[in-house]
Amino acid sequence: MKDFVYSGVSSRVVFGSGTLSKLAEEVERLGANRVLVLTTPQQVEQGETLATSLGGNAVGSFNDATMHTPVEVTERAVSKARDLDADATVSIGGGSTIGLGKALSLKAGLPQIAIPTTYAGSEMTPILGQTEAGRKTTLRDDRVRPATVIYDVDLTMTLPLSMSMTSALNAIAHSMEALYAPDGNPVISLMAEEGVRALGTALPALKADPQSVEARSDALYGAWLCSLCLGSVSMSLHHKLCHTLGGAFDLPHAETHAVILPYAAAYNTPAAPEAMARIARALGRDDGDGATALAELAKSAGAPAALKDLGMPESGIALAADQAVENPYWNPRPVERQAIGELIAAAWAGRPATA
Ligand code: NAD
Repeated sequence: MKDFVYSGVSSRVVFGSGTLSKLAEEVERLGANRVLVLTTPQQVEQGETLATSLGGNAVGSFNDATMHTPVEVTERAVSKARDLDADATVSIGGGSTIGLGKALSLKAGLPQIAIPTTYAGSEMTPILGQTEAGRKTTLRDDRVRPATVIYDVDLTMTLPLSMSMTSALNAIAHSMEALYAPDGNPVISLMAEEGVRALGTALPALKADPQSVEARSDALYGAWLCSLCLGSVSMSLHHKLCHTLGGAFDLPHAETHAVILPYAAAYNTPAAPEAMARIARALGRDDGDGATALAELAKSAGAPAALKDLGMPESGIALAADQAVENPYWNPRPVERQAIGELIAAAWAGRPATA
């Protein structure tokens, strides 16, 4: 066994069906009694129900959470939190809403109770991505990790099927990269493989019946494990490509991850055969070919298969390749400009992924 360092995560996690009913108890446990509720405009109703359930312990809500956490939105939320003298936030939503809660932890010192309703996996990480003047920057700071995470399977029932599929593939990408991370360790690898297994089981079941409680539960459980992986070890080429493409062409987050996953897997296969074998095993294949297993999973999920379908112009391929090889993240296979250009061109057109 290789030497390793393992650091545990201190967030409290409450998981199940109907767990939203534990929120008041969790707010009290945190010592808060002036909570600001965070949502997106699309989830205002859920936010209002939640605020009502907290009675006098909720002092207001801020419903403008936006993808990639623009700093001007954060500033408005900070000023609302200060006006209301809030002492904590409760975020209900996906990565965008939880991102806003993280920004408030950093800028206003407010602890966050996160209630994730997608599988994106921001809730267990100390990572905050923010945008300012069209530029996205990412920081890691333990102060932004939510204090408490309430996973309630019931809240994921309304997540549209297409978003469920792409969001789950986004989660799987965290586990894939954890399996070959330079700072990986045996505990995180166990979580990563189990996360892929749980999501690999959930996706076909959800496709057959989006209201299956068992499949929704498997998916959320898998998403939790994948989020722990993302928050614990370094990410590589897959995440670098998605950040580059998302930032340069304003592509949708989960869909971009879904398209890139099989290509990043195929690229890294020659240099990370053990990780790929674990992915294959988690997805029920005994030939060690994790990249093909992921490509088949994405295809059968009906996920978008080409960057051109997400709105990326063909003329952007060279620019994306140039940016992706600038300050590359560590990667098991060297990140070479020509090979990366070919990868992006194949992903743009939706051609089969090759190593
Ligand atoms: P999102 O949070 O932007 O949500 C997409 C839309 O779906 C929103 O309108 C939201 O209100 C709606 N929605 C969410 N859950 C729903 C539900 N159950 N039913 C109906 N509608 C629902 O999307 P996302 O993919 O979860 O998050 C993407 C953002 O999260 C990006 O900005 C990304 O950078 C960030 N992110 C950050 C980390 C991190 O560790 N910092 C990790 C993953 C993602």
